[in-house]
Amino acid sequence: MIKCSGITFAYEQDPVLNDIAFGVKTGEWLGLLGPNGCGKTTLIKCLSSNLKPQAGVIEIDGKPASKYSHAELAKLIGVVPQESSALFQFTAFEIVLMGRSPYQKLFGFESAKDIEIASSAMRVTDTWQFHERPFQELSGGERQRVIIARALTQEPKILLLDEPTTFLDI
Ligand code: ADP
Repeated sequence: MIKCSGITFAYEQDPVLNDIAFGVKTGEWLGLLGPNGCGKTTLIKCLSSNLKPQAGVIEIDGKPASKYSHAELAKLIGVVPQESSALFQFTAFEIVLMGRSPYQKLFGFESAKDIEIASSAMRVTDTWQFHERPFQELSGGERQRVIIARALTQEPKILLLDEPTTFLDI
């Protein structure tokens, strides 16, 4: 499903990622362990195409990630970053519904199916009770669960979670 080889990435001179290779098949989970600053977030950003490695190939379903459009990638990969904020006063439900944007046409409206998928993800993550509240007013853990709901709403084949339990009551 996802296969990487020779991934090398540097922000400045010294590489943070040096010749990274691994593969993850459908149904498998891969956990990444390492001290602060060793490059876990950087690798996640490369996998989600937010950063472009200077060398190496990332293949998704046998095709290089660089050959997919942004919308195609957004249907394949859901990302839960370490911290999330919203610039505007969106409600938690609006934030979750944004997970359906790769499925909508430009200036299109969400369908009844989009709304059903988003509500169901909020029930699974136990966030429906505050769906009408502004996202920015939620606690760190509540916001994290809303972002997990948004990632599930994308119905991605691949879920990238960057320290997803930060702020959560285990
Ligand atoms: P981890 O997730 O394992 O804690 P990161 O991938 O966040 O590590 O960081 C790896 C290294 O890259 C660190 O030394 C960090 O300071 C550096 N780094 C992260 N983001 C940037 C950036 N935007 N510009 C320059 N250096 C960065």
